[in-house]
Amino acid sequence: MADRYWCGECGFRTPWLTRAEGARRLLDHHRARHPGVPPTGHLESTRRPSAPVLLLVGAGLLLLALALLAAACGTVS
Ligand SMILES: [Zn+2]
Repeated sequence: MADRYWCGECGFRTPWLTRAEGARRLLDHHRARHPGVPPTGHLESTRRPSAPVLLLVGAGLLLLALALLAAACGTVS
């Protein structure tokens, strides 16, 4: 899971980072670009598929390919 912050004053957004790192980057941006303006903006979050989910999908595709191969070999003979 990653987060990125959008500046409320302009179109700036942080890269996908941890929440703490993103907040720090947005504050740095605000201090540099909008001095004297209270920090505003919003947080965007994403939930990326975790490694176990990707492994399960990969294993499922492999089994499907093996089943198709076995079926193709079975029909040839
Ligand atoms: Zn800004």
